Amino acid sequence: MASELESGGNALREPATAGGTELQGNAEVRVNDAAASADRPETQEKAGKNGPEASQAARLHRPPILSMTPEELGQWLEARGEPRYRLRQVLHWIFTQPVENFDQMSDIPKALRRELGRAFRMWTTRVLEHLKAEDGTEKLLLRLMDGQTVECVLLRDDKGHRTACISTQVGCAMGCVFCASGLGGFVRNLSAFEILEQLLHLKRLLPGKERLTHIVVMGMGEPLANLKNLLKALELATSPAGLGISGRRVTISTVGIPPAIDRLAESGKPYHLAISLHAPTDALRNRLVPANEKIGIRAIMAAADRYFAKTGRRVTFEYVLLAGVNDRPEHATALANLLKNRTALVNLIPYNPVPELNFRTPSPARVHRFVEILREAGLNVRVRFRKGVRIDAACGQLRRRLTSGVAEGVCSEQPKPEMASSQSSLGEAPQAECPPGGEKSSSGGELSQPQNAPVTA
Ligand code: SAH
Repeated sequence: MASELESGGNALREPATAGGTELQGNAEVRVNDAAASADRPETQEKAGKNGPEASQAARLHRPPILSMTPEELGQWLEARGEPRYRLRQVLHWIFTQPVENFDQMSDIPKALRRELGRAFRMWTTRVLEHLKAEDGTEKLLLRLMDGQTVECVLLRDDKGHRTACISTQVGCAMGCVFCASGLGGFVRNLSAFEILEQLLHLKRLLPGKERLTHIVVMGMGEPLANLKNLLKALELATSPAGLGISGRRVTISTVGIPPAIDRLAESGKPYHLAISLHAPTDALRNRLVPANEKIGIRAIMAAADRYFAKTGRRVTFEYVLLAGVNDRPEHATALANLLKNRTALVNLIPYNPVPELNFRTPSPARVHRFVEILREAGLNVRVRFRKGVRIDAACGQLRRRLTSGVAEGVCSEQPKPEMASSQSSLGEAPQAECPPGGEKSSSGGELSQPQNAPVTA
């Protein structure tokens, strides 16, 4: 089957049955990845004595193994008379060398593998689609048990960083007017094991002993609106018994929910907080980030200050630059005034266009001027350049196309934003970006229209 990029977008109509790898331009599309095995019965399982239906029902009721803490799993093994080292072995197969099914845990006794398979599900998600860009960025569309889909991304850089960008919700309730994730509204929170499975699927893309080094919680959804499950997942992601990623290398990006920022600070974890500010005044932010109306920049800044005081970690302020909307010199000056005297980093993100939305990426000159003003005011500034431009473009359509059957063809023609994926003329190292994926209409039919009229300056 031809890839969407090759065919002008009318392929991938039957993603669940297609196979193969196609190369075109600087992007590669692989469909039906080998990891797409979540719902396949464990190979070692025989039909139970009540026949295949009973065995199928039993399988569906098995809890996901990732819903167990290492302590709980240890107790489960102990109750079966297993030696203490067995837990380490099982955790190795889950986190260090994630296998498709229990039968592949080759140093575990066969009887125990069978018992594990009868008691637990190994995966609850499966890879529906796998996109790969020339710069090493890979994007997965995962199907969840209830048929919903989420995207996650693996970003590679030349410093050896292997960054997983993960989603925390299906859809998003924040309604940011420039963001594709808000188009279909909010569907549901992801559970901790669904968040963890994204990390494991991405880890499986790495060859040999390569490890994930960083996590950015910048996929679909508002992480602080699903903080409990996120913290549970990150606990295992950062634990030596789990993925062993340093907590200091985890960035959580939020629209800014003060009570949840406080809870995050109280958790005692060293996670890096990024606040999506996008405007220096409430008047403008209310129009870009509707959730701001009930919160306000002042309360967000106070919560950011408390976070810094409690954790000692510099807070990042993200600012998506939208041409003619929030990118003028007076916006930069107002932003500088807001952030001066704070230990902060400003992360400027030239807009990644969403076809249905009426926003544009500013010119390089506009971005340059914005940066200059902030730097002259003494602020630390970075411009975040995009990775995996071609697959970002494709993925903006990916989830929507596969779930609603519309918008085909748009992705192959997606223009690159003016500054995409080039080394900065402003002297900044490129940074990973993982904008949220496209969103389906909740009716499952036509694309929903943006709820908000285009915002102009
Ligand atoms: N809800 C969280 C996570 C969102 S995604 C938050 O608001 O931070 C991470 C970042 O990508 C946010 O700053 C978000 O505003 C930004 N973003 C969303 N759509 C974008 C787009 N089309 N182009 C550039 N950045 C975008």
